[in-house]
Amino acid sequence: MALTGRKITVLGAGISGLTVATILARRGAEVTVLERAEAIREVGAGLQISPNGVTVLEALGLGAELADIGVRGREVALRDYRQGREVLRLDLSGATGAYYFIHRADLVEMLARAARAAGVQIRFLHEITGLALEQDRAHLTTAQGAHLSAETLIGADGLHSVVRGVLNGRAAPSFTGQVAWRATVPANGRVDPVANVHMGPGRHLVHYPLRSGDLINIVAVEERRDWVDEGWNHDDQPANLRAAFADFGGEVPALLDRVTRVNLWGLFRHPVAPHWHKGCAAILGDAAHPTLPFLAQGANMALEDAWVLAAALESHDTPEAAFAAYQEERRPRTMRIVDAASRNARNYHLSGPLRIAAHAALRVGGALAPGGPLKRFDWLYAHDVAARHPLVAAPAP
Ligand SMILES: Cc1cc2nc3c(=O)[nH]c(=O)nc-3n(C[C@H](O)[C@H](O)[C@H](O)COP(=O)(O)OP(=O)(O)OC[C@H]3O[C@@H](n4cnc5c(N)ncnc54)[C@H](O)[C@@H]3O)c2cc1C
Repeated sequence: MALTGRKITVLGAGISGLTVATILARRGAEVTVLERAEAIREVGAGLQISPNGVTVLEALGLGAELADIGVRGREVALRDYRQGREVLRLDLSGATGAYYFIHRADLVEMLARAARAAGVQIRFLHEITGLALEQDRAHLTTAQGAHLSAETLIGADGLHSVVRGVLNGRAAPSFTGQVAWRATVPANGRVDPVANVHMGPGRHLVHYPLRSGDLINIVAVEERRDWVDEGWNHDDQPANLRAAFADFGGEVPALLDRVTRVNLWGLFRHPVAPHWHKGCAAILGDAAHPTLPFLAQGANMALEDAWVLAAALESHDTPEAAFAAYQEERRPRTMRIVDAASRNARNYHLSGPLRIAAHAALRVGGALAPGGPLKRFDWLYAHDVAARHPLVAAPAP
């Protein structure tokens, strides 16, 4: 389908929305992004961009900029919580490509610059509250009182997607029994480009450097019964985080002492949406498959989706055929990733003899086959959507 002059509306100026908008605009489409926020703001904290996401950014000509704003990860160190003793070290140089630690705000700003350079119009303060779908037109209402219509609608509107709701009805998410704090603290001297995972009974804490190593990103997960609202920006007291991880040793106490602001969010399991498209509308990213953070794949799946969706629109005769091919390719892979992320939390949080046995097995496995543990993730990291769909190898601006 020729994209030149085709009018496409994307809902949401997050990672998936800005990426798909940029690719489509570079192929000649007239793309408008509607975003509820009043601007691209400094929100969020650290994200990990693994080789499967990096290839998309590189194919967009953003590889050098990514290297500039991200910290290239060298290793992942799994540690026991008590003294921070290392259980296993994964050398990321053995991975299929580069692996970056990046601030979400820096990634979104980079993608917004690329989108604008490609001619994408980003319209802020457009919070979609109503959506009616016809076969070849979508009618949108905003909280600000505007009525809009779209020829082709791409729902990149995240965790609480309006478009997902219209395509699938409301599915109630289930609380996982886990909450996560996230914070950034200034680095105290030189920091190695390593993601450290401190594993304790019922809890784990991950930290890695951002922004040339000037900042440290902390994500700390605790199992608990009480239920916390789902969302990215609930403030909590740093003292609560310190109390929950008071028995963690190694670098953890010094890091937590420096926390002055912290957000807490409840982790919910959502089913992958059964229906990703209907008529002129489709969904991608968190709108289609919200995931738990334990495999660090939310942003990476969003980048992969964006590439495959744009490629499908270019290579099929109708949006409906394109959307069907896109769902067929993406749904099985994203289901596998979402499942693997759910299983990872259990592995980090073992207690008692199970924990000792699992740590011993990891140590022996790592010593016998140092590249082995990472090899297990080839299915995830070596997946290169840009190479699979070279047709949409959009030129850099
Ligand atoms: C504020 C925020 C902070 C985050 N922080 C982190 C983090 O620190 N670490 C991490 O790993 N992941 C974080 N994430 C999640 C991560 O960015 C996503 O999992 C991933 O990038 C998937 O991207 P997405 O484009 O599908 O969704 P998102 O990146 O969530 O983007 C969705 C976009 O749609 C907009 N939107 C939603 N509803 C509407 C509506 N009705 N009308 C108009 N616009 C709408 C949102 O404002 C947002 O800009 C954060 C997400 C958000 C929104």
